[in-house]
Amino acid sequence: MLLRTIVLLNGLLLLLLGACTAPKGPAAPQIPDTYVRPRYVLAIHGGAGAMRRELMSAEQEARYKAGLEAALMHGDSMLQAGAAALDVVEAVIRMLEDDTLFNAGRGAVLTSEGRAELDASIMDGARGSAGAVAGITTIRHPISAARKVMDASQHVMMTGRGAETFAENHGLETVDNRFFIIPSREAQLRKAKEQASGPAPGGWEGRKFGTVGAVVLDAAGNLAAGTSTGGMTNKRFGRVGDAPIIGAGTYADNAVCAVSCTGHGEYFIRNVVAYDVAARMRYGGESLGAAADSIIYGKLKRIGGEGGLIAVDRMGRIAMPFNSDGMFRASITAEGRKEVAIYRD
Ligand code: ASP
Repeated sequence: MLLRTIVLLNGLLLLLLGACTAPKGPAAPQIPDTYVRPRYVLAIHGGAGAMRRELMSAEQEARYKAGLEAALMHGDSMLQAGAAALDVVEAVIRMLEDDTLFNAGRGAVLTSEGRAELDASIMDGARGSAGAVAGITTIRHPISAARKVMDASQHVMMTGRGAETFAENHGLETVDNRFFIIPSREAQLRKAKEQASGPAPGGWEGRKFGTVGAVVLDAAGNLAAGTSTGGMTNKRFGRVGDAPIIGAGTYADNAVCAVSCTGHGEYFIRNVVAYDVAARMRYGGESLGAAADSIIYGKLKRIGGEGGLIAVDRMGRIAMPFNSDGMFRASITAEGRKEVAIYRD
């Protein structure tokens, strides 16, 4: 009897000890003592692709940088005045949608039928809510349509005519599809079609993914992300890329990070890239930089998935990796640490 009681007590003791020492899930990434979280952070991208210094004129380079800088500084002044992350993401992307240099809104790339079909999404890291639109053709600012879906509907994603009617009914500006189409995109489509049936003409314009995106950590500690695109040149009508898919092209969670992707969408969808960055941090205890790098330079590169991403974590650290030649990108912090860049170096 005594022996049985001792064995039982021993077992209980071991169980208790086990519970105290059992792993409690991954430890949060270690933050060095010297690191000071910036009051706010904004990072934007204008697409990744075959942008090499020798393929771009100094004038082209200056125009792209000016476009990025204008959007960046607009977002910066909003954040300085205390704006919320979500509002900054929307405002900055609206500016980039209006800039014909980038593949979103006006100046978007064209489908094989010569039309603009636009995708966008936005996510609020504070509430975990999200909105997205896909294949829309008449709403001037797709990112605002995505925001409306998030704020004024029970849904996360709406497509085509339904999304357009919804956005229109909520007062968003509508335009004819021709509004989005610019001559250089028509030329790009012609080239892409020639390429498909004959030798490739080359040039960096045809191998550029000019999607736009923004990620923000605001002064209140809230994270938000958004992405907007015309997709890929010569895409089949009805094709939807990663940009409007929450978890693939866009993701935000206040506890972890905010992410916006650009690149060959099919690869980003299959690899759930934006969410994978957050998941590696959350469940694997990886830092933002390590998580983003291992996906872009490891997993995606191995399978030929060209592109990149921008991300900011809850401590304001920024990651902007890309495995293409270049990525139009820019970032700024409350302390004035600013970067506007295109190439790898
Ligand atoms: N990811 C976008 C898509 O596949 C293209 C891009 O990033 O430019 O639709």
